[in-house]
Amino acid sequence: MNCLFCSIAEGNIPSKKVYEDELVYAFYDIDPQAPVHFLVIPKTHIDSVAAVNEENSSIVAHCFEVISKVTKEMGIDSFRVVSNCGEQAGQSVPHLHFHVLAGRDMTWPPG
Ligand code: 5GP
Ligand code: ZN
Repeated sequence: MNCLFCSIAEGNIPSKKVYEDELVYAFYDIDPQAPVHFLVIPKTHIDSVAAVNEENSSIVAHCFEVISKVTKEMGIDSFRVVSNCGEQAGQSVPHLHFHVLAGRDMTWPPG
């Protein structure tokens, strides 16, 4: 499958790595929206949150364990996690990813 984030997870497209294990890859966003902005993705292809199910949800739990661990290691105690799902919500890459944003005041509600 021709998928940008599968290619990044496989190392075929370069990225600035934050964290990696057998299930998950995390890397800095190419167009950061905050002083800290990285993405956490499962190495296996899942289209979006809408494609999460009983079979693959353990990897989503693992993504959140990684977010907790990595933010702690970075000394970040306040951050936002975002997953855009579908075109209207602003998803531009159809491979499940969690944005982790920190280092500035965040607005609510989001735009
Ligand atoms: P989405 O718009 O789907 O919620 O998030 C996709 C994110 O991927 C965007 O924030 C965008 O800047 C980032 N992105 C797109 N292409 C690349 C790339 O080639 N490398 C990196 N590091 N980030 C990318
Ligand atoms: Zn993919």
